[in-house]
Amino acid sequence: MQLSDVVTLGKVKADALVPFNHRWVGNRFLISNDLGDHLFVTPDELRTYVEGRTVPGETLHEQLMAKNFLAAGVNIQVEAARWRRKRSFLFYGPTLHAFVLTHRCNHGCQYCHSSIVGMERTDTDMSIETAERAVDLVFQTTSPGVTIEFQGGEPLANWEVLQHIVEYSRQKNALAGKALSFSLVTNLSLMDDEKLDYLLDRKVQLCTSLDGPADLHDKIRIYKQGSSHELVTGWMRKINQRYKDMGLDPNLYRVEALPTITRPALGRWKDVVDTYIDVGCRAVFLRKLDPFGFAARSAKTLGYSMDDFLTFYINAVEYILELNKQGTQVMERHAAIMLSKILADQEPNYLDLRTPGGACIGQMGYAPDGAIYSSDEGRFVAAMGDEMFRIGDVNSSYVQLMTNAQTRALVMAGINDGQPDCVNCTYKPWCGQQTEYNYKTQGSLSGRMRDSVWCKKHKSIFDYLMAKVEKADPVEMAIFERWTTNRTLDHFLQERGAL
Ligand code: SF4
Repeated sequence: MQLSDVVTLGKVKADALVPFNHRWVGNRFLISNDLGDHLFVTPDELRTYVEGRTVPGETLHEQLMAKNFLAAGVNIQVEAARWRRKRSFLFYGPTLHAFVLTHRCNHGCQYCHSSIVGMERTDTDMSIETAERAVDLVFQTTSPGVTIEFQGGEPLANWEVLQHIVEYSRQKNALAGKALSFSLVTNLSLMDDEKLDYLLDRKVQLCTSLDGPADLHDKIRIYKQGSSHELVTGWMRKINQRYKDMGLDPNLYRVEALPTITRPALGRWKDVVDTYIDVGCRAVFLRKLDPFGFAARSAKTLGYSMDDFLTFYINAVEYILELNKQGTQVMERHAAIMLSKILADQEPNYLDLRTPGGACIGQMGYAPDGAIYSSDEGRFVAAMGDEMFRIGDVNSSYVQLMTNAQTRALVMAGINDGQPDCVNCTYKPWCGQQTEYNYKTQGSLSGRMRDSVWCKKHKSIFDYLMAKVEKADPVEMAIFERWTTNRTLDHFLQERGAL
């Protein structure tokens, strides 16, 4: 149903209204404004609203006032402060710094999007000199918080440089006093007790890949020396136990794991979710196979349509909701991020769902040779021979990196208000762009949202979630609210100013 089905244009009382977008969701219109408020209204209520016929004291009028849909009810100062809070990331430079420590890896994952080489190719490791220059740049960011994320290849293969970066960064931070944290994305195959002791001592957050049950995981994540699944789940259990032994809250402190959904997983949403619960996870981040790098080459065997993914996603989230109702606390991260924005008025600064997008000003990717990219995805594009997203190298100055033509173009292309379809979209206040994805799938930084799979994924998930919210009973609302509760993992922050 469209606005024009219920409203006669000549009767619209534009000066009484705040600009809004609308969409038919579930059994009502969902309306939203740029401040991030939303309301479900019936066609009659929408007509009453746009014709300026609401009556003070009546429920509809008071709801519209409370949600900033009536111009007379908007407190500009309060709303400006609220907008500023949710856009606070615009006031400082990039927070996330992804360091690719090596291109070496001992796994042969079918969808791998990195430019992976064999373990003997130590020439693809980041050197200590390059690492130090990169850290020097990281500490020039105006962001009060910095996360250095170790990536690869398998970053544990370049252990000496990883340790050096941790120690060097801590030294620099004694002066800088930033909220510094480290995270390591690892397949865990090179983990040993000594490395684990160091990583736990230095509060490095651990994140791994787990694609589901053993037959699914091992079929895709090929490890010649044995079962990758056995190895990963074994270490996850061991590390989770170590967190417990350290007195950390087991509900918060666990190894993070991410699945990549491939075609063989599509019918197995239960198996994927059950695997995560079995190994102690409280969250699953259901990610579609991305179009970057080597994954594009394996699309014929592992790929699927966005419709297939959405069917998988909805089945999995329905199952997760059912488990929650039966007492198992587990969340789907994509849903949790979206609902945090919509229901809790938070801005989690998830780089794929913010505007402007995260390219350059939210994150930067550092290659082993010192090249710097707009993001990890920008680096994946480079791994396929296209340097479109290279914004400089470790010899560039921070000012050059932040102000050059590429960076400015990427930021401008990542603004929803500059997108013809987004400006009229009900989900605009909570959605975002990834210019690298637009470029890879549609050949331009801005893309065309009308036929973009990026847009289709997000719009469909928003539709699904909002239809759930529209008719949620108190039990379901309590689950959604629990998913939106912000839990900070303070343990992973380095002590400010201390060594
Ligand atoms: S990307 Fe799609 S869903 Fe997101 S705001 Fe733009 S049009 Fe809406």
